[in-house]
Amino acid sequence: MSAAGRTPLLEVRGLTKCFGGLVAVSELDFDLYPGEILGLIGPNGAGKSTTFNLIAGAHTATEGTMTFDGERIDGVPPHRIAARGIMRTFQHNMPFAGMSVADNVLVGTHCGLSGGKSGVGLLSVLANTPAARAAEARARAKAEELIEFVGLADERGTDVTSLSFGQGRLLETARALAGDPKLMLFDEPAAGLTPAECVRLAVIIRSIAARGIAVLLIEHDMHFLLRLAQRVVVLNFGCKIADGSPEAIRADPAVVEAYLGEAGALASVAEGSHAQA
Ligand code: ADP
Ligand code: MG
Repeated sequence: MSAAGRTPLLEVRGLTKCFGGLVAVSELDFDLYPGEILGLIGPNGAGKSTTFNLIAGAHTATEGTMTFDGERIDGVPPHRIAARGIMRTFQHNMPFAGMSVADNVLVGTHCGLSGGKSGVGLLSVLANTPAARAAEARARAKAEELIEFVGLADERGTDVTSLSFGQGRLLETARALAGDPKLMLFDEPAAGLTPAECVRLAVIIRSIAARGIAVLLIEHDMHFLLRLAQRVVVLNFGCKIADGSPEAIRADPAVVEAYLGEAGALASVAEGSHAQA
């Protein structure tokens, strides 16, 4: 999808990661555009999480380049990558325990792009200057907006340890958004959610993309992913075996072949081919 005249937000070229003799990701190429939802799928061990870790800076590539928003990010440490506008959620929720929902999201506003751009130094904060108070009010308003966006308004004062698993996932999404990402990485966001929560999460992910934020989505639940992603990259043994629309992916013999060992996933692919996306 080389959308005419559009510049990719993320360009991955020849990305390779070896763990000793094991090639976890092999010469991977793909582009991701602003506002696009790109699915990253593949059987267990295909290299999906490694790809995420490379983009987020948690792993260093053995070879290859990643260009984000016109600048190389390969070799850049995770906190700088976050500051450039790449935020991730994890497979397991990791809220700041003992703090409310609102305060958890507020902490997120101090990370990433917004933190760097506030322009209010530590001394101003300590002296409680008008500029520091104004910045704090802006951060609180933004946190409140995001809490409503993910549907946690009724829980804003709740201690995070009393949230359900699904609510925790929504909180994590709001907290990541608070850092003003240009790219959101979701690692299996539907895992552990109820069907109703999955529907809500799909709406939220679509709204995130509609705001112009690019979304890279790893998801084992093929039914969820193929209905949500506009384009899908398929990995197998670290190599890209397909890159196309969900319809093309479902019909691709190499993809079906790759999933033969995973009966459940294959059933989902087949089921999806009959379902209305
Ligand atoms: P996926 O997320 O698609 O299931 P991963 O990216 O987690 O796959 O793993 C790809 C391959 O790399 C697997 O064979 C896995 O065992 C291996 N691997 C992942 N992380 C490490 C690591 N830190 N050290 C050694 N091998 C790893
Ligand atoms: Mg994984």
